[in-house]
Amino acid sequence: MLKKILVVEDNEDNRRILVYRLRKIGQFDIREAANGQQAVEAVQQDPPDLIFMDLKMPVMDGWEATRRIRQMDVGRAVRIIALTAQAMAGDEQKALSIGCDDYLAKPVVDPDIVRQKLERLIGASAAA
Ligand SMILES: [Mg+2]
Repeated sequence: MLKKILVVEDNEDNRRILVYRLRKIGQFDIREAANGQQAVEAVQQDPPDLIFMDLKMPVMDGWEATRRIRQMDVGRAVRIIALTAQAMAGDEQKALSIGCDDYLAKPVVDPDIVRQKLERLIGASAAA
């Protein structure tokens, strides 16, 4: 069974870049969502193993979506990596405080860092 990864990001270019990187890293069942509302619905329907969660999004932002997911029975075990903007100092600690497991600064350019985080959080290696 492939690990299920949900990429939540309103910026289509950023979303595509991250999906592209993930496909280079290994074989995953990758789903996409463009805002927090879609992410919450996706978790309700079929919880992924891990979520990359952009924080600033329309409709419902990543902060609210993370809080809601953590309140769901099926959402507690989901690993969440917050996607933070480099200009937003303090978001990293805040993301951890609301229930994210880790954070990653955008733009996501270094596949090794992504690989390490995936390995640590869901045990997914390059060969997964
Ligand atoms: Mg955004």
